[in-house]
Amino acid sequence: MDLSIVVPIYNEEENVPALYKKVCEALESSGLEYELILVDDGSSDGSLAALKLIASRDQHVKVISFRRNFGQTAAMAAGFNAACGRVVVPMDGDLQNDPSDIPRLLSKIEEGYDVVSGWRKDRQDTFINRKLPSVIANYLISRMTGVYLHDYGCTLKAYRREVLDGINLYGEMHRFVPALASQVGAKVAELPVKHYPRLYGTSKYGISRTMRVILDLMTVKFLLTYSTKPIQLFGKWGIYTLGAGFLSGAATIYMKLFEHMSMNRNPLLILTAFLLFMGVQFIVLGLLGELNARTYYEAQSKPIYVVKEKINLG
Ligand code: UDP
Ligand code: MG
Repeated sequence: MDLSIVVPIYNEEENVPALYKKVCEALESSGLEYELILVDDGSSDGSLAALKLIASRDQHVKVISFRRNFGQTAAMAAGFNAACGRVVVPMDGDLQNDPSDIPRLLSKIEEGYDVVSGWRKDRQDTFINRKLPSVIANYLISRMTGVYLHDYGCTLKAYRREVLDGINLYGEMHRFVPALASQVGAKVAELPVKHYPRLYGTSKYGISRTMRVILDLMTVKFLLTYSTKPIQLFGKWGIYTLGAGFLSGAATIYMKLFEHMSMNRNPLLILTAFLLFMGVQFIVLGLLGELNARTYYEAQSKPIYVVKEKINLG
């Protein structure tokens, strides 16, 4: 299998038929062996019925349906886990992305990149509550992860299959895959893609998502830098501070014994106590961080979704 297209679907009944048609048109002439994995994220409209209808007629189409709404990231993760293609391409189900961009993403992969991220250069969303927060978010994410992209939020991306192995997604983290992949050596490129306004249905998100993205960015930053070494980060400062505390303590004792300085209300005493306490605090914080990091890794087997039904999938 050359290609797996993964589409999260949450209440997109009007969009499903057109989406299917556009995907077929885009790939028919390509000669690629592909599958279209449609993940129903607990839709309450006729989306699942529409997906089932398509899957009953076309073996390329595979459907996973969730017991309830688990969120876009979970839907994408389920699709990624089921994908057999050499390249995996996630895409929105609301026709804001264009399947005709897929061949271009693939040729970029063929150039030797492991991740090709779509860039909605001409993004068709409102400015104040969508584009502006996303400019800020992209700046922050780029600065903090060291992987500079214009448009982390674009769902349309292409991944070499191996890149996704070992990446566990949750929250809003689907957008951070390029940064997480780059950490383990993946070559990342960005490619301008088309973008359309939503014709049918409504966006599932508002401004509140930006806050969640920022929170998840902190998790990603933690994963990228401190995940395996909080004790090294905090412990280092703890040891410096403790060392300074001992020096200051030694100076205090020296001055008391040999210079006969009065210790009554002497700030050196306070400084010593402060440094010693802070040093111990830092070290304990490092240990807690270490414990937390380990718990995080242990907890990763926890599923982020529950599957109700699979169609055309083994
Ligand atoms: N989506 C989903 N689960 C959710 C919310 C959204 O699977 O809980 C899907 C949705 O059906 C669409 C994609 O994620 O295919 C992007 O959602 P939307 O268009 O609402 O986001 P926007 O384009 O406004 O960022
Ligand atoms: Mg959309």
